[in-house]
Amino acid sequence: MKIKLERKGELFIISAPSGSGKSTLIHMLLKEVENLEFSVSYTTREPRKGEVNGKDYFFVSEEEFKKMIENDEFIEYAKVFGKFYYGTAKKQVYSKIEKGKDVIMDIDVQGAYQIMQKKPIDFTSIFIIPPSLEELRNRLVSRGRDSMEEIEKRLNTAKNEIKYLKYFDYVVVNDILEDALSDLKAIIFSERRKVKRLVNIESIYKQFTEE
Ligand code: ADP
Ligand code: 5GP
Repeated sequence: MKIKLERKGELFIISAPSGSGKSTLIHMLLKEVENLEFSVSYTTREPRKGEVNGKDYFFVSEEEFKKMIENDEFIEYAKVFGKFYYGTAKKQVYSKIEKGKDVIMDIDVQGAYQIMQKKPIDFTSIFIIPPSLEELRNRLVSRGRDSMEEIEKRLNTAKNEIKYLKYFDYVVVNDILEDALSDLKAIIFSERRKVKRLVNIESIYKQFTEE
C-alpha cells in the first residue's frame, strides 16, 4: 500500500492595505489551487454592484451583526475604515478545516491581529504589500471604485497598517502580479507539507514496521 498523507485543513489569513491587489490575488488562488475555500465574511455594508449575498459576503443589518457578537459567533470582527462592521463567523471556518479543506480569509489588519493575540485556531498569516505608496495610490485611483476622499482615507489607513507587518508569518510584495501569485502558492504548498499537520503519522510508522 502506498503512503497517503492525511492532514487537517489549514487556515490562511491574508491581509493587505486596500488597493494592494489582495482580492485579485485571492481570486486567482481560488481558481488555481485545489482544496482551497474562501471564508465568506459577514458585513453591515451595502452590497456593491455585482456582489452576491453568500458568495462575496453575507450582508446583514447592524442589529443582526450585534446579535452575532452577543452570541459569540465570530472568530474575529472589526469596524473597518471607521464605518462598517466586518466579521468571520466560526461556523464558516471550523467545519471546513475539520473536513481537511484549507480556508483562505481576507480580513483587515485589526482582525488578523485579534486572531494572532487570541490564537483560537492554528493559522498562517500573510501580509501583501504594494511595491510603493505611490503605486498603491495609482491602483486605488485606476480601480475607479472609491471617491478621492475615500482613497485618501485608505492611504492614511495603509500608513498605519504597515506597522503590523512584524506580526505576520510571511510577506509578499505584489509588484508583478504573476510573481506575487507564485509566491503565495509556494507558501501554501510548503505549509501543506508540514509534518505537524499530519493526522495519520501513526499509520505511516505502522506501514514501515509491519512488512
Ligand atoms: P484589494 O483587494 O487589495 O483592495 P484589488 O485586488 O481590488 O485590491 O486591486 C486594486 C487594483 O489594482 C485593481 O484595479 C487591480 O486590477 C489592480 N492590481 C492588482 N494587482 C496588480 C498588479 N500586480 N499590478 C498592477 N495592478 C494590479
Ligand atoms: P470591502 O468593503 O472593500 O470589501 O472590504 C474592506 C476591508 O474589510 C478589506 O480590507 C477586507 O480585508 C476587510 N474585511 C473583509 N472581511 C472581513 C472580516 O471578516 N473581518 C475583518 N476584520 N475584516 C474584513
